[in-house]
Amino acid sequence: MKLKINNLKDNDKILWKKMPCTCNKGNVMESHPIKTCLHCKYEICENSMPRDSFTIMETVFDKNNKPTDKTIKKEIKEITIVRGSHDDIIGWEF
Ligand SMILES: [Zn+2]
Repeated sequence: MKLKINNLKDNDKILWKKMPCTCNKGNVMESHPIKTCLHCKYEICENSMPRDSFTIMETVFDKNNKPTDKTIKKEIKEITIVRGSHDDIIGWEF
C-alpha cells in the first residue's frame, strides 16, 4: 500500500538539490562517502525514505502505563518528514 507522506516539497524548493555534487565520479577516493559530498549524502537519505506502508512492532503498555514484554504489530500508513537546514531529510515521524 502506498504510504501517505507529509511535508513533501517540490524539487525546486529543496535547497540541497541546488547544491552541486562535488564528487569526482569514477574516482572513489574523491567521491562520497570517502570525500563528503552533501548532495550525495542527502540523496542517500532521501532514497532511504520508505514509499510504501510498513509494519513495526510496538510495545504493549499495561493499565499503569508500564511497558510489558508483549508487542503488537502496527501498520504505518502515514509519516511526516523531518527536514534539516538544507531541506534534507533527517528522519520521519509516525
Ligand atoms: Zn556527490
